[in-house]
Amino acid sequence: MIREAAPPGISIHGVEPAPESELLRVHTPAYLNKIRSGCLEPAEAVKLGLPAGEALLVRSRLEVAGTIAAMEAALADGLACNLAGGTHHAFADRGLGYCVLNDVAVAIRALHVRRPNARVAVIDTDAHQGNGTHGIFASDDRVFTYSIHVGKNYPAHKTPGRLDVELPRYVGGLDYLEQLEATLAPALKEFAPDLAFWIAGADPHENDRFGQMRLTDADMATRDRHVLDLVTRMRVATVVLYGGGYNRDRVHTARLHARTVLLTASYHADHYGWEK
Ligand SMILES: [Zn+2]
Repeated sequence: MIREAAPPGISIHGVEPAPESELLRVHTPAYLNKIRSGCLEPAEAVKLGLPAGEALLVRSRLEVAGTIAAMEAALADGLACNLAGGTHHAFADRGLGYCVLNDVAVAIRALHVRRPNARVAVIDTDAHQGNGTHGIFASDDRVFTYSIHVGKNYPAHKTPGRLDVELPRYVGGLDYLEQLEATLAPALKEFAPDLAFWIAGADPHENDRFGQMRLTDADMATRDRHVLDLVTRMRVATVVLYGGGYNRDRVHTARLHARTVLLTASYHADHYGWEK
């Protein structure tokens, strides 16, 4: 399905919910059953932060399918976005922090079924650490997990990734960008991925309720350009995902996500040959 209202240079495709067989490459049957039946323990329900049940499972399966579809598009065509996704706190057997299923992990496992040697980088610039993704791929050398985040913020218990860049609370844009530029490029060059997932995150913004960073609109745009410059220069097929966003001005969360998508489309046009 292609919707017609998309801006020039962008085609928007719908998806069907990802089948359970795909989810089971990452998640345990017991956990999926708990979400489906809505039978989470009270403490588990609090940690997830969303009401479990069939509706939540279907919505989360759609999100996973969007990431898988964006992966296929990026592999064919260089760059693609899911207008959702980046649910990086979800582990194999539990959901945390509004993350039910780990979309990136399910997509990577699907890729590894047909390309077992594919090298995949997860670039996580959401303000919070990508603990679930880190945990799922802790012993998988084919997956490089990078996260730049506030050290003393959610999640309280960090799960080590391959490269964690911990920043102080209320870090300003200049310091953030300096750390990002000093760490991401060398790491990607050394790992030499075949594919990257970029969990952008709108929550490093200065007006976000939970991010505890102080990036201005201009800093956010510089961040986005830095990541996109890097992956297009290296010709690494890249999937762009939303991640979190909790702006005090709710519309601004949508605006920040939209800017990332539009910038991605512009890079696509410049580097992979579409009309702008
Ligand atoms: Zn976040």
